[in-house]
Amino acid sequence: MHTTVLKIWCISIITLLVFVQTVPSKTIAPQQQQSKYEQNALVHTDEKIQDILLKINETLVKNFMEYLILNIGVRYTGTSGCQNASHYIYEQFEDMGLQVRYHNWSAKINRSNPTLVTSQNVEATQQGSDPEYDDVIIFNAHYDTAKGTVGANDDGSGTVAVLAAAYVLSQYRFNRTMKFVTFSGEEQGLFGSDAYVRELYDQRTPVLVEFNADGIGRATTSEYGRKIRLSYTEDTGWIIDIMKEMTNEYGLNFTFTTFWKVNRFLPIGFSDYYPFTRFGYESISVWEAEGDPNYHSPRDNISNINFSYLVNTTRHIAATMAILADMQVEVPQVHIANPRAGKIISNDTIRKNTKYVTSLIIDKTNIYAEVTQGIYPIDRVEFYYGTTLLFTDTEEPYEYMLNKRSIGFHRIKVVVYDEQGNSATDQMRILFLNIKTK
Ligand SMILES: [Zn+2]
Repeated sequence: MHTTVLKIWCISIITLLVFVQTVPSKTIAPQQQQSKYEQNALVHTDEKIQDILLKINETLVKNFMEYLILNIGVRYTGTSGCQNASHYIYEQFEDMGLQVRYHNWSAKINRSNPTLVTSQNVEATQQGSDPEYDDVIIFNAHYDTAKGTVGANDDGSGTVAVLAAAYVLSQYRFNRTMKFVTFSGEEQGLFGSDAYVRELYDQRTPVLVEFNADGIGRATTSEYGRKIRLSYTEDTGWIIDIMKEMTNEYGLNFTFTTFWKVNRFLPIGFSDYYPFTRFGYESISVWEAEGDPNYHSPRDNISNINFSYLVNTTRHIAATMAILADMQVEVPQVHIANPRAGKIISNDTIRKNTKYVTSLIIDKTNIYAEVTQGIYPIDRVEFYYGTTLLFTDTEEPYEYMLNKRSIGFHRIKVVVYDEQGNSATDQMRILFLNIKTK
């Protein structure tokens, strides 16, 4: 009986996944954006980008990696190795002249052991020079490891990439603010990133995009050495176009393949991108194209790192960040600013924070869509309840009072369109209890 139930369960999940992955919720016009991008961004940032690419070299990357792996070693969350790594990362960021802080978190990271573990993420901020560009770009990786491995690739490679990108990018000025973040608690269940994203979300920090790197240092053939896999959220197509154009423009000549398209409602996540995607942020995860047979084993050692490949994966992220940080975003963006995720809400007032993402909403609620215009004026914002279009708003403020009779889970979705037909989407899931409909 168990196997039958399991089979049915598996089949339904697979059907659901296939369905969810194949339903496109938005379309963009990449060709239009590409040509505009050519005219605007690259021409102006050319030398700066070239410099940045050159400064990210093997010596720089190797130095960070050797300290992390050979001097510190295993960095299992809650151990002194993990703590030592956080101190090392903190000092590196400080030496770069960045604003650094520990972001402390605590959680019961082990189901069989109820002890509260306290650990710390390390965040470095490079303040943007133009207050008009108020959305930040985040690059993160996890510095903790699984038990019994020094984690050179998982995720020494990502941590080193964050450090190297910070080291080089901190030598320049950019319009937008950049944040370089290293998390702990990833291996036990994304604890550090979950706490970090909740704080980010509650502070209403606008985020243009989050880059995650977890396993970007392995390539054993020249073919894999020119490939990168990406997993990403629905509205990042224009950023991936920039990445693709950049790689050819500067002679890196990498090819990108889609690892998977992120489904924000999936009950599991594979790395620190996950909390970001659940809270509605746009996210791009960069992965090596070759699988790693040494995953979570003592063999995940420095000898299995392909340093010239790691230099190149780091370059792609850092240069893309540099281009984005200075450019005017051409596509519209949208965020559901109300209701808030992870709360208990009644009468449209937040009563309590919860550990969940899905909010419990009692009584009617005002859906407020915060829209950022690209280069074209906004045409309209559509409000969906499940798949049903409830309302189309053509004037600011873009909002809709949701007062459907309900006892259950629902998805709310907003889609913004500009006059050229470019669109962006945000969606969230709510547990909606609304008996009266007045
Ligand atoms: Zn990892």
